[in-house]
Amino acid sequence: MTTKPETKEFQAEVKKLLDIVIHSLYTEKDIFLRELISNSADALEKFRLKQLLEDEVFDKDASLDISISVNDKEHTLTIIDSGIGMTREELEHNLGTIAHSGSKTFLSELGEAQQKDINLIGQFGVGFYAAFMVAKKVRVKSRSYKVDEEGYEWASDGTGSYTVTRESGLHRGTKIILELKDDAHKYADEETIKRIIKKYSNFVSFPINVGGEAINTVQALWTKSKDDIKEEEYTEFYKFIANAFDKPLSHFHFSADAPLAIKSLLFVPGDNMELMGFGRMDPGVSLYCQKVLIEQHSKNILPEWLRFLKGVVDSEDLPLNISRQALQDNALVAKLKKIITTRFLKFLKEQAKNDAEQYEKFWTTFGLFLKEGATTDYTHRNDLAQLLRFESSKSEAGKLISLAEYVERMPEGQDEIYYINGPSREAIETGPYFEVFKRRNVEIIYTMEPIDDFVFTHLSEFDGKKLVSGDRADLKLPEKTEENKEEKDTDSAEELDTPIAQTLAKWMKDVLGDKVKDVAISKRLVDSPAMIVNPDGFFTSSMERVMSATNQEHKIGSKNLEINCSHPLIKGLADMRIKDEEFAKNIVSQIHDNAMIQAGLMIEPRSMVERSYKILERVLGKESA
Ligand code: ADP
Ligand code: MG
Repeated sequence: MTTKPETKEFQAEVKKLLDIVIHSLYTEKDIFLRELISNSADALEKFRLKQLLEDEVFDKDASLDISISVNDKEHTLTIIDSGIGMTREELEHNLGTIAHSGSKTFLSELGEAQQKDINLIGQFGVGFYAAFMVAKKVRVKSRSYKVDEEGYEWASDGTGSYTVTRESGLHRGTKIILELKDDAHKYADEETIKRIIKKYSNFVSFPINVGGEAINTVQALWTKSKDDIKEEEYTEFYKFIANAFDKPLSHFHFSADAPLAIKSLLFVPGDNMELMGFGRMDPGVSLYCQKVLIEQHSKNILPEWLRFLKGVVDSEDLPLNISRQALQDNALVAKLKKIITTRFLKFLKEQAKNDAEQYEKFWTTFGLFLKEGATTDYTHRNDLAQLLRFESSKSEAGKLISLAEYVERMPEGQDEIYYINGPSREAIETGPYFEVFKRRNVEIIYTMEPIDDFVFTHLSEFDGKKLVSGDRADLKLPEKTEENKEEKDTDSAEELDTPIAQTLAKWMKDVLGDKVKDVAISKRLVDSPAMIVNPDGFFTSSMERVMSATNQEHKIGSKNLEINCSHPLIKGLADMRIKDEEFAKNIVSQIHDNAMIQAGLMIEPRSMVERSYKILERVLGKESA
């Protein structure tokens, strides 16, 4: 029995999406088949689970597979699955609105940049709507697995609306009929279809029949032994599960029997989509129990900072009937998560040891995620600390060292690890903080990313050694070692007499008022006249910069200004204060502003610029006089 079709409008976003899909010149149209097959496979996976959990299902004995047929006279392509099917409401919701993540991401990434759209179609897959790249009309006949439902046909030419009609006599699952566009007739050819399936859908875990013959390799690669898997198979499998076109950077295939039975295959992708500006990634590892999908792209199986991984975790210890909700606070899942994370970090540590080059590639592409982990994940922070890499004053430019290497070459008498933040190696090495480290030949780590100082503050120590920022006011560097004893600690230039220096510092504090907590006489400056240091030290200047950039409320804590009493500028200032106090005050403010800039902290540019012009004018006035 067939009833009258009912016509409905697509949701506005869907219209927009369809418009792009239909008119795009995207050349890789083949991917439409990947999208439809993956939907069928998802529907079959969902059915397999329902079948285990529910008493009654419709068409109980239908075999679980996907069949594809073509008609080259009528130019049609038909894809049939015996999956979970859709009710009328599901047809309208799933195919009439933007409900799923793939096309949502696509639309939001699309933004204004129309140029980008074409490649994004392939990157994210626009899901079901990809059918309209090759079809002028799409009909979807579906019958839900629920026993007391009926079958419906959904049909559309992709322009503004679709129809829904009741249709009797349908089997469980979904049948999609594409009426191919004139320029897409080639898809009504079995050989073409087979080739595309081999390319994109070879690992679908249900047979895909074309012309009555199963043509994919049905297997759960993660359950096979490593020795039986070829490198290309890993790569193909990665491309399949991650919907990706790149090659994975590496894979980690492991199994365990105790304390939990685990079979897992994880991939590090070739590219970091977040770094490329595609926004925050969704997790990419799915949870299985004996090859039955429990949760796709699970948020629960790995910590958030491992969201860049793709792959599968299969554990037969998981109860099949576990609900999404229950997964979240299931003790077993938490245990799995911990084991897999620990094992993966161990894998990275081994890679770092045995294949440093490969690890460095990983670190430059995904290191930021490990830093995120180090600041958010208490459980794994010690493992993570061992994986961090930085440049340092004793590494060549661009070469990275680990904290362990730093500790290994720490001379006797040094029991802290030093680091300093700056925008670049050059900026750090010419800045005031570096001076004393250079003079005393003490290694210092360069932190050049905004997150780095948060990482070190969270870790607080490594291998029992405190991590200390070089901009601390109370910095106590190790006593001089034998090898650098020769070097003089202070410049040979004469210093101001102590009482004069003390009076000067006190006066400078009065001039600067609330802008500083204190003005102190430096024991560490060599070439610079002054610098900003942090008196009570939880935050480094770099952290303060990040916080005030991201949070309007954040008030920068007050700092100390350290002055170098053997520097000509400071010595001259002592004289100027007596000759022309007003002008000397300008100089104090300028020194402070300059030091703030070197610390990477905000200053008020307008008054700074005005003041510096005043100072310049005076210099020129003197010259020309
Ligand atoms: P996604 O697969 O990312 O969810 P799609 O656009 O590919 O997005 O599909 C939208 C939704 O339509 C799916 O989530 C699913 O609920 C439903 N759907 C699509 N194809 C089928 C199918 N063959 N069987 C059952 N449901 C399907
Ligand atoms: Mg899909």
